[in-house]
Amino acid sequence: MNAEIGGDVHRAADMLRSGEVVAIPTETVYGLAANAFDPVAVLRVFKVKDRPAFDPLIVHVGDREQLAKVVKMWPDQAEALMDKFWPGPLTLVLPKRPEVSDLVTSGSDTVAVRMPAHPTTRELLKVTGFPLAAPSANPFGYVSPTTAEHVADQLGERIPYILDGGPCGIGVESTILAPLADGGWGLLRPGGVSLEALEPIIGRPTQRQDHGPQLLPGMLPSHYAPRKPVYMGDVEDLARRFHGRRTAVISFRSEHPAFRCEVLSPSGDLGEAAMHLFAVLRELDASPCEVILAEEFPEHGLGRAINDRLRRASAART
Ligand code: AMP
Ligand code: MG
Repeated sequence: MNAEIGGDVHRAADMLRSGEVVAIPTETVYGLAANAFDPVAVLRVFKVKDRPAFDPLIVHVGDREQLAKVVKMWPDQAEALMDKFWPGPLTLVLPKRPEVSDLVTSGSDTVAVRMPAHPTTRELLKVTGFPLAAPSANPFGYVSPTTAEHVADQLGERIPYILDGGPCGIGVESTILAPLADGGWGLLRPGGVSLEALEPIIGRPTQRQDHGPQLLPGMLPSHYAPRKPVYMGDVEDLARRFHGRRTAVISFRSEHPAFRCEVLSPSGDLGEAAMHLFAVLRELDASPCEVILAEEFPEHGLGRAINDRLRRASAART
């Protein structure tokens, strides 16, 4: 199999209807989608990604009607969050309906759901009529794809079709929240919606370390990682430590002396930096550099999601 790349929503919908998996564009990263109500298709997603079965998938819905087919009920604050942030990069973990396969949720009685904002995938969800279970379209543990070409590079031989929606506008995965028994909210993953934006509606969510039944791979210390070693910290110090090696620096706004330096946003825009992050990690991974040195980004807004991904990318080594 060698994936065709195209913009044909109806073709993608036909394949999904017949139980195939198809790569789809979202505003966060590209997803590897299957009919959420077809366990055989969902199983295929795990196989294509080499994803362990204990890592649950996010279900993507096009409207409230599809949401009601997936989720049993949701608290008033969840409704307020959906009103404010959907469609958009916010995932909520809510009680699942029995029709949702245990494979999607890894046996949990909760399901992670979101309504994506990308117009192509919104159109696709309208045409299929069923929700799509979709993790990021990359081999398990690797950097998520933000263009159709990224998907083709790694999974092109394993899937029939990549629905091309151009480069992803947000560039990091969704923020994941779960309601807690005490009425508060837990942050399972920082992402495309900042904590500052959530705060007026639900206050400050507690960090994932404070709760949660199990550690899921999206929360593992080492994940979202390129093959080259990544070190995070003061890049001047790190550059001294790796003197004589071909170092690549990932910096927020300014150039640093190195074999190669990638500035993610010269104007200091964290949204722009997030949008470029994964493409730059991939480029550096494919480049002749030996070591990737990443600056710590400001810990606010999308900077939290950037630091989270860089920390995990570096976790295997530091
Ligand atoms: P992704 O790999 O971007 O598709 O994100 C999937 C991640 O969503 C998982 O690794 C979990 O961290 C989280 N997730 C999905 N379903 C659930 C669930 N039922 N409960 C808690 N977290 C979930
Ligand atoms: Mg992923």
